[in-house]
Amino acid sequence: MQPCHFLITRLSVRSLALSTVTPMAGIIYQQRMSALRSYNLLLLSRSSQSLHRRHYHLRQMSMDTQSGGAAAVARLIDSGLLKTQGLIGGKWTDAYDGNSIKVHNPATGDVIANVPCMGRKETTDAISSAYDAFNSWSKLTATERSKCLRKWYDLLIDHKEDLAQLITLEQGKPLKEALGEVAYGANFIEFYAEEAKRVYGDIIPSTLADRRLFVLKQPVGVVGAITPWNFPLAMITRKVGPALACGCTVVIKPSELTPLTALAAAELALKAGIPPGVVNVVMGNASDIGDTLLASSQVRKITFTGSTAVGKKLMAGAAGTVKKVSLELGGNAPCIVFDDADLDVAVKGSLAAKFRNSGQTCVCANRIIVQEGIYEKFANAFASAVQNLQVGNGLIEGVAQGPLINEAAVHKVESFVQDATSKGAKVMLGGKRHSLGMTFYEPTVLTDVNSEMLVSREEVFGPVAPLIRFKTEEDAIHIANDTNADNAYIGKGGNRDEVLQLLYSQLC
Ligand code: NAP
Repeated sequence: MQPCHFLITRLSVRSLALSTVTPMAGIIYQQRMSALRSYNLLLLSRSSQSLHRRHYHLRQMSMDTQSGGAAAVARLIDSGLLKTQGLIGGKWTDAYDGNSIKVHNPATGDVIANVPCMGRKETTDAISSAYDAFNSWSKLTATERSKCLRKWYDLLIDHKEDLAQLITLEQGKPLKEALGEVAYGANFIEFYAEEAKRVYGDIIPSTLADRRLFVLKQPVGVVGAITPWNFPLAMITRKVGPALACGCTVVIKPSELTPLTALAAAELALKAGIPPGVVNVVMGNASDIGDTLLASSQVRKITFTGSTAVGKKLMAGAAGTVKKVSLELGGNAPCIVFDDADLDVAVKGSLAAKFRNSGQTCVCANRIIVQEGIYEKFANAFASAVQNLQVGNGLIEGVAQGPLINEAAVHKVESFVQDATSKGAKVMLGGKRHSLGMTFYEPTVLTDVNSEMLVSREEVFGPVAPLIRFKTEEDAIHIANDTNADNAYIGKGGNRDEVLQLLYSQLC
């Protein structure tokens, strides 16, 4: 019997090309996997922990003690999860030139920590570490990798309160939502700990008697993972979980606005026994770090969640070295309310879909499309529900709306509201900065919105609910589809089956 010949290549275009020109070969493989993770924070080192802690106490005095900000920081220091350096090859590292970035609490403006402002050199070293670690990590059995991931998941859950407080401190979302993010984010690690053992291949019938065709899935290599600030934990675990499960190593670049959660998660990855170099975290100059990841021939995949504009740049930049790319970009999700909707259900559902994370979620209902027969009733009931949302520091019990991430985000919201009102929209509720100051914005309801307004064409990424009127189902479908960015549909009507059928057959 003829021996089988295997050609194992690293996925993608190159592997397919090789398989085409090499006769006697079985192959093709590679699976879906994504990014990586790791983090850094800088500001306090272990050796000077107590000193820093005193420093924190002093500095955090201005942070409203009622909201528990100072206590939260102190607890994080005690737990060892307030890391303030980058992670390269298992070593907590400052920027080589000593530069740093301040991480602010958007609810108070206080500085939580300084982290290194890294660039090309640190990223190059992080890539080298990941490249070296790939050799051994990819050779572990799936069961061994699975155990590490499971341990990481357990640690994330054990520290869920600490992680949630960190998320609220640096990102601003209410603590209850932050706890939800920890559970959601940790679940990706749990899921991929299980999937690690199920990376099956295939046997393909050959047209030639002396050939055997196999599909063997292999890890691609080093993955560059670039993540946004709105889900500082979950966007990392969603990328790093699958990458590590199939044997890849990662260089994570979290947003400079929310690096602390990433660093804490990386610390827990180390504690879980994930070997040094498998997870690296660099932060700082986004374009320098991004360009270095893109230019490196050792990085075989880029996984990114963030704005469409940056996603396009990365996609173009990845072409130079023909890397695989996975992109999760901006959204413009419609929420459709039909005349026969249960008003109570429609209001509650729309409220949750729009105002989660103060509207800073890619699947937020960016456009609430309401049938004319229920429009006025819905608008009144919805506005009174929105009015009840308590705005404030997310560490305070009962707060449902935190601040926006920064001034730029508030300016964007202001300009969208201004554009809408100048084109005929009416402010039913809110429409301006909140009296709390900082980056707090009043939960807002706009009526008489149409498709020409910015607020219905682009992601507002803030607590503004535009209500658009429609007459017929066809109108609703047309309005909902009048975008190139939707990534979620929410329908509310009396007959669930009909609504779902409608959405699936015509909207997706
Ligand atoms: P962003 O401005 O695109 O930033 C995302 C990440 O890219 C950050 O880490 C940022 O770094 C980095 N970055 C910026 N410029 C870069 C460059 N030239 N090269 C490499 N990296 C670069 O997006 P964002 O404002 O953080 O996040 C909000 C967006 O994410 C929204 O559009 C939202 O819809 C989208 N999102 C989508 C999903 C999804 O699943 N589809 C989920 C969550 C969020 P710095 O922050 O350090 O500058």
